[in-house]
Amino acid sequence: MLQVNNLRMRFGGITAVNDVSFAVNKGEIVSLIGPNGAGKTTCFNMITGFLKPTEGSAAFEGKVVTGRAPHDIARLGVVRSFQKTNILKGLSVFENILTAHQRQGTLSLLATLLPGGGVRQSETRLRDSAAEIVELIGLGARMNTEAASLSCGELRLLEVGIGLGARPRLLMLDEPAAGLNSEEALKLGTILKGLVGSQIEALLLVEHNMNLVMSISDRIVVMNFGLKLAEGGPEEVRNNPEVIAAYLGSAAEH
Ligand code: ATP
Repeated sequence: MLQVNNLRMRFGGITAVNDVSFAVNKGEIVSLIGPNGAGKTTCFNMITGFLKPTEGSAAFEGKVVTGRAPHDIARLGVVRSFQKTNILKGLSVFENILTAHQRQGTLSLLATLLPGGGVRQSETRLRDSAAEIVELIGLGARMNTEAASLSCGELRLLEVGIGLGARPRLLMLDEPAAGLNSEEALKLGTILKGLVGSQIEALLLVEHNMNLVMSISDRIVVMNFGLKLAEGGPEEVRNNPEVIAAYLGSAAEH
């Protein structure tokens, strides 16, 4: 689905991403890992149109997306979350997801301006679908709770829900387990695994929580100082001496 080809990003004298290539296939969960400053978020920014690469490209379903506007790329089905939250604290869990849905649905809603209450039916559909997402992310009991009073773990789940609200085909999450305890991270992992194949076609993560990464990833891409250091399945990556030296030795502290 996603093919990243020789991406490079220079900021003045710093090469934050240096000739990085990898792919995400339909049905896969792929994680991008590596030490702080390795260039993971910069990769996300280039793939989703928030940064224009110095060199290289990324293509989604054969269409080059790098250099296009973020909303164009989202419309193609590539949706990302941010390390900084997208959550509207004054709205309820349900309203947050409905808002994401409505933003995405505006155009399709206009297309249904037909006699016979097409718009109202669409509104109902959006509300039903938003409620379904709330259940899927395990926040059914918090449907009408204001986001401001959610726990850290619940906020992370809501961020995933907001991403789903945009109806992605490929969902890209930037550190979805940041600040979660091991029990919450486990719950998040189960939910994320369940989404692939039902709600989304593939998932790309940037994540430091190695328990989560190792338990849900089909493939892991390891970055260090802007370069791709290794790529493989969890077992292969876990046992790679270069990865252990550069990252996994210290990642145990995260
Ligand atoms: P973390 O795990 O801490 O989120 P990361 O792997 O996502 O790190 P990036 O945020 O991509 O790393 O940063 C890679 C390098 O690029 C760092 O040296 C960072 O300071 C630099 N960098 C990122 N964005 C910019 C920018 N807009 N301008 C200048 N330098 C930047």
